[in-house]
Amino acid sequence: MSKIYVRNLTKRYGDTMALNNVSLEIESGEFLVLLGPSGCGKTTLLRCLAGLETPDEGEIIMGDKVVFSTAASIMVAPGKRNLGMVFQSYALWPHMTVRDNVKFGLDVLKTSKSVANERVDNVLSDVGLSHLDERYPSELSGGQQQRVALARLLATQPPIFLMDEPLSNLDARLRMDMRVELKRFQSDAKATTVYVTHDQTEAMTMSTRVVVMKEGEIQQISPPDQLYRQPENTFVADFVGMPRINLIELSAEDNRSSCFSNGDIQVDVGWIPGYSEVTIGARPEDITVTEQTSTTREDYKITAVLPNGPETIIQITRGQTTLIARVAHDSVFVNGQKVCVNFNVNALNIYATKTGSLVSRKTVNVSEAC
Ligand code: ATP
Repeated sequence: MSKIYVRNLTKRYGDTMALNNVSLEIESGEFLVLLGPSGCGKTTLLRCLAGLETPDEGEIIMGDKVVFSTAASIMVAPGKRNLGMVFQSYALWPHMTVRDNVKFGLDVLKTSKSVANERVDNVLSDVGLSHLDERYPSELSGGQQQRVALARLLATQPPIFLMDEPLSNLDARLRMDMRVELKRFQSDAKATTVYVTHDQTEAMTMSTRVVVMKEGEIQQISPPDQLYRQPENTFVADFVGMPRINLIELSAEDNRSSCFSNGDIQVDVGWIPGYSEVTIGARPEDITVTEQTSTTREDYKITAVLPNGPETIIQITRGQTTLIARVAHDSVFVNGQKVCVNFNVNALNIYATKTGSLVSRKTVNVSEAC
């Protein structure tokens, strides 16, 4: 079993706090994705797990082995952590054939020749590269090189996979195919996997849980669906989801009422004692847009219509407030059209505007006028 424990990990580069007291537990066999904007500390955390960086403080345990501890002055070398790595650059040996690149790790482990050859044959077949085994990396496409790097990792059968943006050099189509394959390999190998990406589609489609980071700190750790439906703060809400969530800042109309407004939209958020400023989070698909009838108000106006294959994204404006909604591809909306807007009241989250933290995700009653 290869559960990983990270406890109070801190890493500084001069004045930059790359990791600030990070703690998490990674379950054996899980596919954990580190997600966040550039510079948030994803790669630093992965490199600390790999043993390529020495943290300033904290502890890392892999399985039943402490591989890093400032308290106990332990720093186990990367080669002794029993893990495999794939990086964005693939890091293949240019002077070695595909076969020799894949076999390299087995030679280092002094695996017998017959076992090594059989293992290499099997993994090359798994990644669909048996026919290219005598080529050199410079004679391969980016996708093929990526498969060699993966085969090299699979050949040594490590219980832990660490991957840093391994698909980012591939074109969109190949990337999609490789996501499926990579997930299958990981699942077959039952390897505990930590995977760094800033691509949220990759994070949402491949992971068992996603860790969202910002400025060296963990913002939320959740399964992908929960991350999307129940972001714990406005940073996560805003970072996850494309098109972006609608975050609407509202103020209490008076301190006895549950009615909040921004001058354009009035919302009955239910009774939230102690909060005079809240931010409503509504995903684009949780906004229903209908054609205006003679009895409805006329002041929501479509200001952009963006067809996107199976769906259409529309921008709607009222006063200073702009909303983004996702509607079916066959909806007939045109720029400039006056429309009615309703929110899916079961899907809204309410945040404290001041801190950005979740206040309530109970059903709210969104109305045109309180
Ligand atoms: P990206 O998605 O751009 O790769 P990241 O989330 O992986 O970003 P890190 O590479 O972990 O971010 O960097 C975290 C912070 O630490 C950044 O501010 C970065 O500039 C800084 N940093 C990382 N490595 C070094 C280094 N060797 N020397 C100095 N600063 C560093």
